[in-house]
Parts: sequence; structure tokens; C-alpha cells
Amino acid sequence: MTQDDRDPRTGLIHHPYRAPEGFESPVVGVHKGSTVFFPNVAAMRARTWKDKSGYTYGLHGTPTTFTLEERIATLEGGRHTLLVSSGLAAIMLVNLSLLRAGDEVLLPDNVYGPSRDLAVHELAQYGITHRIYDPMGGAGALRAAIGERTRLVWLEAAGSVTLEFPDLRGLVAAARERGVTVALDNTWGAGIAFRPFDLGEGLGVDVSIHALTKYPSGGGDVLMGAVTTVDRALHERIMMTHSRFGLGVGANDAELVLRSLPSLHLRYHAQDASARRIAAWAQQRPEVARVLHPALPGSPGHEHWAAQCSAAAGLLSIAFQPRHDAAAVDRFVDALRLFRIGYSWGGPVSLVVPYPIQAMRAFEAPVAGTLVRLCIGLERTEDLIADLEQALGAL
Ligand SMILES: *Cc1c(COP(=O)(O)O)cnc(C)c1O
Repeated sequence: MTQDDRDPRTGLIHHPYRAPEGFESPVVGVHKGSTVFFPNVAAMRARTWKDKSGYTYGLHGTPTTFTLEERIATLEGGRHTLLVSSGLAAIMLVNLSLLRAGDEVLLPDNVYGPSRDLAVHELAQYGITHRIYDPMGGAGALRAAIGERTRLVWLEAAGSVTLEFPDLRGLVAAARERGVTVALDNTWGAGIAFRPFDLGEGLGVDVSIHALTKYPSGGGDVLMGAVTTVDRALHERIMMTHSRFGLGVGANDAELVLRSLPSLHLRYHAQDASARRIAAWAQQRPEVARVLHPALPGSPGHEHWAAQCSAAAGLLSIAFQPRHDAAAVDRFVDALRLFRIGYSWGGPVSLVVPYPIQAMRAFEAPVAGTLVRLCIGLERTEDLIADLEQALGAL
């Protein structure tokens, strides 16, 4: 059968056209496929996806997802990256790859909330227990929390909502002394504020997870997570669990993150600068009791941030004077116009969420009452300050 006498239905699928070699453009192609063809059986048996030397099945990687993995590994300062459907799925993957029944995992008190829920409601069902430690207690508190069954310690810097910055080097050293694997939720630092695999003096975390949903996506439109490692054996262990659980991401979502990555540093630093100006402004307001932002002197762990970081994410939290009760704080949030009420961060739109903070902590939170977390977007800083100013009238 020649090309010409083929049925058009077949011709629509088996078409001789191939995009010309030599078509190079700034973007990575969107390569899709569950099925990947092999020219013959010997090639099928010889090919492997495990070292990215070949393509065997869409779930195990495409040129688009392999490229994004390589770029995230570069961003994090690691060697190997695996992609999953969300930041929370990245946390789940690390836990289920590295923990067995009878093991214990340690979580900082200011851990990303759903990570604690995962431990309470899911890990417990597999016979994996968890313990909460005070991240601001430093190496001493972590040493005291590590037990016979501790196999994994999670770090988060800065902490969720309250934005305390821990002594990362001290915490990593304390876990190392006991031979415990260290995993970091690096979403806040985004690979920019500090280098998680190179914290100085040969200290680095073993695993870094990143909610690409936040800064790497940058659009408020993609959910994705990444797990990055340096050690090949550790990577392979997580990679096989990733493969057996059937985790992976779609090419269109990977494309959106690839398209946003070149502007990542510009966006991160712009939102950092804007957030610092807003934090300094808020600190001067009589309605405000405390502003939490690790770059502000007096904010919890500021000295650790200053010693370990070169930048900060565009997040700050505000506690109001006690005379403004919870209902007044809600009125303030409702009165905001540019700041939209919504979860997540790292996108163009500034966001706000009020949190009843003490109910979320085992140890004492740095403030009482309702904490208002602001995520600074890409709007003009003066416009955001004007919005906050008018909303203060609703207190
Ligand atoms: C958002 C976030 C996550 C979870 O990411 P999703 O993609 O929303 O699941 C995990 N850790 C931190 C610190 C986050 O901010």
C-alpha cells in the first residue's frame, strides 16, 4: 500500500511528515504519549527510563517532563528530580518511600498543615507514627525529640504562616549525628533564598521537596510538586516508589512550569522587595501588634535568616492589637479589594487568609489571636499599601 491509496482515517494517524530537524526555538516541545513506540523487540528490551537514557512509557517520562526534572534539579542545587501532581503529593511520596511500619517521622510545629494531617490520618494507618518538635528549640530540641524509631526529620524554612526561620545547619547536624534522613520543604526558599544541599561545612539536606504550584508556576494555574535529591541510591529508592504508585504529571502542566521558569528569579525578587516594604509599613501602624517576616529584625529566627539566606519569599503575617477582636480582623480581610481571599501563593495576584493561629500549634505561637497572612503578588506596591490602609478602617 502506498501513501496515496491509504484510507484517510489511517493517514491521519500514520503520516510520513516529521518536523524538520534544525527547528530550534526557546521553548521545549510539548511531548505527549502514554504509548511510546519501539522499532523492534530488542530495542524494547534494551531501553530504560531509569537513567533518562530512553523513553518507554509516558508515566515514566517524556522529553518534556525529563527536561523540567533536569531544570528543577538545577534550581535546587541537586542532581535528581521526580515530578508529582502537587506539593502535597511530593511530601506523601517522600514519606511512603522512606518509612516503614514501626518507624517514626518528626515534623516541625510550624509544618505545612496538610503535612501534619497526612501523618495523623494516613501514615498512622501504615503503622508509621509521628512526633512534633519545636523547630525554634534548635539542635538541642531536635536531639531530644529523636528516638530509637526516628527515621526521617522534616524541616521547613520559613515555617508555615508564622514564618519563623530555624537554625537549619544546627538541625541538619543534629539529625546527622543520629544517622536520620533529613527532608526539607523548600517551597518558601524556592531554590533562591538559600541552597538546601549546600548549607556550608558539608551539611546539606538529603531530600528537598518543592511545591512548583507556587513560584515555579507563578501563574496560580498549575498544581505540581518535585522531589529532589543528590544521592543516587536515595533517588532510586524514591523513584521506584514513584513508579510503583503510578505517579506522574501531564505534559501541558509541565510546559506551563517550563515557560515560567526563566522569569522565576525576577518574580521572586520583585515579590520579596514588595513584601519587605509592606512589612516595614505595617510595623509602623498603630493597629498592628506584630509583623512576622524573617527579614525583619525581631521576627522569630531573624538572625538565622540573616546568616543563611540572601532573599525572602513575598509572604508576611500580621497580628493586630488585642483590642481588635476576631470579628474585626475578619471585617478587615473582607474589606480588602486588591488582596483576594484565597490559598496558595507565588502568583501575580496578592492573596490574604486569616488563621486562628494558637489552635494550629502544639508549642506556643509567636502571637495570639487571629493572624492575617499576606502573599504579595506583582501589583504596584503603593496600590497594595493603599488597599491595606483603606481596609484598616473596617477594623
Ligand atoms: C503549597 C504548599 C505545599 C503544597 O503544595 P500543593 O501543590 O498545593 O499541594 C507544600 N508545602 C508548602 C510550604 C506549601 O506552601
